[in-house]
Amino acid sequence: MKLLDGKRALITGIAGNRSIAWGIAQAMQREGAELAFTHQNERLRGRVEELAAQCGSDITLPCDVQNDGEIAALFKALGERWPQLDILVHSIAYAPREELGGDYAANASRAGFTAAHETSCYSLTALAAGARPLMRGGGAVLTLTYYGAEKVVPNYNVMGLAKASLEANVRYLADCLGPEGTRVNAISAGPIKTLAASGIGDFRKMLEHVERTAPLRKNVSIDEVGNAAAFLCSDFASGVTGEILHVDAGYNLVGMSAGR
Ligand code: NAD
Repeated sequence: MKLLDGKRALITGIAGNRSIAWGIAQAMQREGAELAFTHQNERLRGRVEELAAQCGSDITLPCDVQNDGEIAALFKALGERWPQLDILVHSIAYAPREELGGDYAANASRAGFTAAHETSCYSLTALAAGARPLMRGGGAVLTLTYYGAEKVVPNYNVMGLAKASLEANVRYLADCLGPEGTRVNAISAGPIKTLAASGIGDFRKMLEHVERTAPLRKNVSIDEVGNAAAFLCSDFASGVTGEILHVDAGYNLVGMSAGR
């Protein structure tokens, strides 16, 4: 008996095999889940289809979360293949590159703020609402956040605000969907070198700092995030909702590092 036997999961946010969503997909497939995927645009379609095939899935559907029509079409098409959806993984974030570095106030624009919040936070609500009719028997929704929501991290800037909003969103959605048996949680992952992360200024320094400072003296991998995701979306976590689980080698608990 595997952790996710009999469960069906929709995975969003794969840009390639370095994506956190790919670590999650691999762990969920290994634990017995049947998978479907979305791709943001035509440019990513082939890559996502290839990775989906590696998981034995032939369901890859388009979904740019800025587009309400695509969100509606996604769940209509998914509903035609699957009568029930058990797991929704939201692994999507975006902010304009010029906002992710340097002087926060000087670089912050109204357009950048709006884009970051819309794509990185509102999209969770939109996808959870779209998935709701397919999660009739209850389900699990999971998103990805980062420590920059809680504390100031250099260069994270407007994305820190969007992640703080996302974490509040997790709590509001958990309360809203809880009576229907749907749980909503987030993983706060430590820094991992992915495409999205490459847009953040001085990202390499962040990795070095975490490796020196975190209690486990390492950075986490997409596989470690994937394993935690599989647990949170499994029935073993049936009593857990509205939670932000840190998968960061313990970095968040360090107030001051002694000479490291
Ligand atoms: P990634 O670049 O591999 O994934 C980001 C995904 O967001 C991409 O697949 C991209 O297609 C998707 N996306 C962006 N705009 C979209 C839109 N309009 N519609 C649909 N999809 C869209 O990077 P990642 O690091 O795997 O990021 C996944 C999640 O993990 C993000 O929420 C990110 O903030 C979070 N996270 C990342 C780190 C890290 O250090 N890499 C740490 C903590 C949290």
